[in-house]
Amino acid sequence: MRKINTIVNAKEEIAKLKNLNCAEDDVFFQAMEEVLLSIFPLFKSDEIYNKSAKNAIVRRLITPDRVIKFKVVWLDDNNEAQVNTGYRVQFNNALGPYKGGLRFHPSVNEGVLKFLGFEQILKNALTGLPIGGAKGGSDFDPKGKSDFEVMKFCSAFMRELHKYIGPRIDVPAGDIGVGGREIGYLFGEYKKITSAFEGVLTGKPYFFGGSLMRPEATGYGAVYFTQKMLELEGKESLKEKICAVSGAGNVALHAIEKLQHLGAIPVTCTDSKGTIYDARGVDLPLLKELKLQRRVSLEEYIVTHPEAQYIPVSDYPKGGHAAWNIPCFAAFPCATQNELTEVDAKNLIANGCQSVTEGANMPSTTEAVHLMLNSDICLAPAKAANAGGVAVSGFEMSQNAAMQKWTFDEVDAKLQQTMEEICENVAATAKEYGVEGNYVDGANIAGFKRVADAMIAEGV
Ligand code: NDP
Repeated sequence: MRKINTIVNAKEEIAKLKNLNCAEDDVFFQAMEEVLLSIFPLFKSDEIYNKSAKNAIVRRLITPDRVIKFKVVWLDDNNEAQVNTGYRVQFNNALGPYKGGLRFHPSVNEGVLKFLGFEQILKNALTGLPIGGAKGGSDFDPKGKSDFEVMKFCSAFMRELHKYIGPRIDVPAGDIGVGGREIGYLFGEYKKITSAFEGVLTGKPYFFGGSLMRPEATGYGAVYFTQKMLELEGKESLKEKICAVSGAGNVALHAIEKLQHLGAIPVTCTDSKGTIYDARGVDLPLLKELKLQRRVSLEEYIVTHPEAQYIPVSDYPKGGHAAWNIPCFAAFPCATQNELTEVDAKNLIANGCQSVTEGANMPSTTEAVHLMLNSDICLAPAKAANAGGVAVSGFEMSQNAAMQKWTFDEVDAKLQQTMEEICENVAATAKEYGVEGNYVDGANIAGFKRVADAMIAEGV
């Protein structure tokens, strides 16, 4: 059984902060509450943080430096004007320039980006790199749009965004709906406007300044983290073990790839319409073809593999998801927020799952997290386990600044080392603060301390 950090009045304090900062933003409140429940004990045990509490360190940490919101007007293929909303939440730059992805998805709003930006502050701190936290994006949906429409949207988006970013100010990257194609168009427009060829975005295609391994980094990193966590917790390795993965995008594809490299057997993947269960192991080349080249629904998978099972969303267990109902040794939620519910956590625990690694940002609901922390499952929280993407983005910034190109093996070795160091740091912090084995508290405390120390040193 693992202990969960709480203090008597933490909930009351958090309720007050909710009213001040995020009354309307449920996902932001969820993210903030989890972090604050982990770090409140520090204010009792540690004089410097007790003093910093008086200096409103928590209020300052949960309040973004600025939220930029703008109109994006672009012409579709029928020459009709379309209007979307663009955002950049510059949350905290105590450790370095703002850094965090751009998400293009119809569900994007200020609350979602505040949650993602807040998580990004602590995630970036855990990497040990000099980068602050931010997030941005738009309610634009690239799905079903032509390449030309995506290009015109990206150009219009950058015409506004360029005023607020720069290699030493704010360096965006990709996220849901923003891959190499979108980053290329955004970079091209920035260059036209400013005439500067500089490292203002990461996740660029390799041939004009991107780092090798950036596409693979988040998924590979999540698996490296899991390997280390299983070792530290004295559990069996991933080799020959059944794994359940959700998502079929950048993070999921590369988590599946690295699991296969290590001899594990990932048997599921999902998109927003359904789940594939292929008991012999997912056919990765086919999955890449469906999602990266043809950009079609997962249902197409069973055209090639009729022996696999396609489970549409309408057939999911009540309140849960099909992927987490399949017995597995390790689970990797890599799609989106709150995709692993209380029902799913109960199913995973009942089926003897040994580890859950959050490849996506905040994929587990609060209730699911509590259940998993009180079970035999080792839970690798997103801000630690999926930090590989931003770590390699940091490496891309270094390569751009030094006009260098590192090899695939060099980046891979640095990524693995970074993920193992994050895992060890999180485990050691949890132990130091009396919650050994609780990687959620360990990650929150370790990330918070690094940012808070910088904020205190830099003054009000
Ligand atoms: P992509 O857009 O490449 O892929 C997202 C995948 O998840 C798609 O297959 C999508 O399906 C699926 N999906 C979306 N919503 C649901 C849902 N409700 N149920 C099931 N599947 C769903 O995004 P990424 O892989 O880049 O990002 C995935 C997660 O990882 C996000 O939480 C992101 O913030 C996080 N992350 C990403 C990083 C990166 O480097 N890319 C870095 C760190 C975190 P469909 O195609 O049908 O929409």
